[in-house]
Amino acid sequence: MFFERNRRRLDASFRTIDGMPFIAVILILITCIGSETEMPTYSRSGHIITPLSEEEKKPLVAKLDAETKRITQRSGTERPFCGTLLDNKKDGFYACVVCGLPLFASEHKFNSGTGWPSFFSPYDPEHVTTESDESHGMVRTEILCTRCDAHLGHVFDDGPKPTGKRFCLNSASLHFYEEGEELPDASKPAELETAYFAGGCFWGIEHYFQKGNGVVNAVSGYMQGDSEDPTYKDVCSGTSGHAEVVMVQFDPNIISYPELVEAFFKMHDPTQLNRQGPDIGSQYRSGIFTTSQSQFDVAKTYIEKLTAEKQYDKPIVTEVEPAKKFHPAEEGHQDYIERTGRACHVTDPWKN
Ligand SMILES: [Zn+2]
Repeated sequence: MFFERNRRRLDASFRTIDGMPFIAVILILITCIGSETEMPTYSRSGHIITPLSEEEKKPLVAKLDAETKRITQRSGTERPFCGTLLDNKKDGFYACVVCGLPLFASEHKFNSGTGWPSFFSPYDPEHVTTESDESHGMVRTEILCTRCDAHLGHVFDDGPKPTGKRFCLNSASLHFYEEGEELPDASKPAELETAYFAGGCFWGIEHYFQKGNGVVNAVSGYMQGDSEDPTYKDVCSGTSGHAEVVMVQFDPNIISYPELVEAFFKMHDPTQLNRQGPDIGSQYRSGIFTTSQSQFDVAKTYIEKLTAEKQYDKPIVTEVEPAKKFHPAEEGHQDYIERTGRACHVTDPWKN
C-alpha cells in the first residue's frame, strides 16, 4: 500500500504542473528530489531499497573477486553448469553478493535444465529491476539489484506457473543464507515500530503523519471500540465506541516515538472532550493508543510535562490506553486530503 500511495502522490504532483511557470516547476522538482534523498525508500517486505551512491558502492565492489566483479559490474555471464548454487536445494534466501539485499527465495527455485540457477519469482518484486539488453545480437531483459544496480542475469517468459517467468541467475551474483543462519544487517528488513493516534477526523492527521521523515506508512482506521469490522457509518453513529485513528508505521532509527507524540499534540487541540473543532462525538476523541509499556510511559510523561508547563488554558483530556485491534478504514478514506486536494485545518507539525 505504501508504494501505491507514493505513486499516487507522484501522479498528483505532476497533474499540478500544467500551466505553472517553468521556474515554479523547477523549484518543486528540486524540493521533491531533496526530500527523497532524506527519506529512505522501503520495499513491501520492509527492506530499505534506496539506491546506493557510487561512493557507497565503491568499498562493496572492492571486496569482490575478479570473476564476481566481471559478472556483477560488467554484465558478465558465468558458464552454464558451473555455478555453485545451481543444485542448491536447501531452504533459505539468495541475497545480492554486493549489497546483501534479499533477491530470491528457495521456495521459488526450480530446475530449468539450462545450467543456471532459476526462479519463477523474485523474493520481493521491488528488489529487482529490469532493463532491455540488446548485446550479443539478442534482445533480452536484464535483471539488476534495485539497491546497488549489480547485474544478476536475465528474465525470460518461458517459466513455470504461476508467473510464467524464468529468472535466470549467475551464482556469482548471489550469496545464499540458509534458514536460521545469522544475517548481516544489510540483509535484514528495517525494524519498524507502530503507533496509533486519534485527533479528530483522521483525514488531516493521516496526511501530516505521512509527511514525517521516517514515517513509512500512515493509515486511517478505527479502534478501541466493541464491534468487529466497523464501517465509517457505524463509527459516525457514535455508538460503536471506536475512535477515528491513524496507524503510523515508522523507522525508529530515523524518527523517534517521542517526536511523533510531540507532532501529534501540535496537530490537534487535546483539551477538547469528544470533539475536534466542528466534528462532535466520541469518535473524534483525543487518544494515544500504545503498543508497548515504553510508548505508554512516553505519552503519559509528555502530557505531564505539557500540563506542568501550563501549555494549555484547560486540562488535557487525551486518553492514553493500550492499543486494541486496529481496523483500517475503507479505501475512500485513505490519502483523502492528498487525493481530493481539500483544505485541511490540521496544523503542519513539521514546520518550525
Ligand atoms: Zn545489490
